[in-house]
Amino acid sequence: MSLIVQKYGGTSVGSAERIRNVARRILDSHEAGDQIVAVVSAMSGVTNRLIELSEEVTGKTQNATEREMDVLLSTGEQTTIALISMAINSMGGKAVSLTGAQAGIQTDGVHTKARISNITPDEVHRLLNDGNIVILAGFQGRSPEGYITTLGRGGSDLTAIAMAAAVDAELCQIYTDVKGVYTCDPRVVKTAQKIEEISYDEMLEMASSGSKVMQSRSVEFAKKFGVRFEVRSSLNQQPGTLVLEETMSMESVVIRGISLERDQAKITIEGVRDQPGTAAKVFTSIAGANIIVDMIVQNVSKTGTTDISFTVGQADLANAEKTLNAVLPDIGEDVSLVSQEGIAKLSVVGIGMRSHSGVASQMFDTLSKAGINIQMISTSEIKITVTVGNDEIDDAARAVHSAFGLDDESAD
Ligand code: ADP
Ligand code: ASP
Ligand code: MG
Repeated sequence: MSLIVQKYGGTSVGSAERIRNVARRILDSHEAGDQIVAVVSAMSGVTNRLIELSEEVTGKTQNATEREMDVLLSTGEQTTIALISMAINSMGGKAVSLTGAQAGIQTDGVHTKARISNITPDEVHRLLNDGNIVILAGFQGRSPEGYITTLGRGGSDLTAIAMAAAVDAELCQIYTDVKGVYTCDPRVVKTAQKIEEISYDEMLEMASSGSKVMQSRSVEFAKKFGVRFEVRSSLNQQPGTLVLEETMSMESVVIRGISLERDQAKITIEGVRDQPGTAAKVFTSIAGANIIVDMIVQNVSKTGTTDISFTVGQADLANAEKTLNAVLPDIGEDVSLVSQEGIAKLSVVGIGMRSHSGVASQMFDTLSKAGINIQMISTSEIKITVTVGNDEIDDAARAVHSAFGLDDESAD
């Protein structure tokens, strides 16, 4: 008998019919002789609807406190655990639902993006040993004060990976609405192929550069604690994508996949004094406003002043501008702020890049032949990212996907 952690995302539990489908699958796994902990998300659209409701009741100017947002958002998953458990019980199985707190998931007190600090799975083990299927609410835990916390958007992935580590599960299966991790978002690139195996580092780079099939923090956690997991479809029985530590043969593939992320904005601060401490002032102020910054580029200084550019999510732009305007007088005499919205990021990812040259030139050449202008470039050991216009990103992704030989030739 094995202990298996399964996770079913929002689309997979998005209707009464889908809930019954998931309940049936969980019950089948249990009847095959395994112990099952099934982590479930809110039904698709529910979390977004709850956020909209909070905005409607507080008005635009007065935001809800993050503590209350967590109380609100956690109800989405709580609805699903009850419904799945009821469905399983109605089919003759024995299921018990648990909230994150009831399952012993302790977090820090950072509401809306809490980090898991510890899991005490005693109750989970007790219920499993009594022959129950455990249906666990994803995306939530409890703070040191005992308050409800949530783990950031897409956080049910993290609940599943962390619980798999805590109970030392034999398998961790992430069931979703696609067959696995693809070489690019299959909604954008129709010729994208399912990847059989991918390393933690590649999955992490893809997740953090826009491939939302896995929450990036959950991949970070899996890498840290060596949790192998499989991403697969909740609608069929086919094997999916294995995410695991790097193997020798993985290096022979230069580009594993391509990610895209829309709705970014570029901020340029012109005329910044070129002396120690200036960049620190800029980015300390931005970090203080809890804004995540990416792709920082600083020009070479010719006249004692320089330009600093970076990207932020478009939703953070207004806040970033407000924050920066307050520090501008401290960083130069004649400084100005220029912002541009409507930007998207395209990234190519692969551990084979470490040992193969020419990836950047091939990517840039492909974009140039497609008539797409590159605005910014940044690289890591296994990733190259460029920014292009939002309206060009789909064409850019298709062209680069094809140029790196990733197209599934049998797809129409
Ligand atoms: P869930 O509700 O199961 O958590 P998500 O909507 O969070 O599912 O993630 C699945 C979606 O991720 C897919 O429907 C797909 O459009 C998108 N996606 C983006 N990039 C990729 C990729 N490289 N491979 C597979 N899916 C991807
Ligand atoms: N329901 C949460 C969200 O929509 C968590 C999740 O689905 O993983 O972000
Ligand atoms: Mg998800």
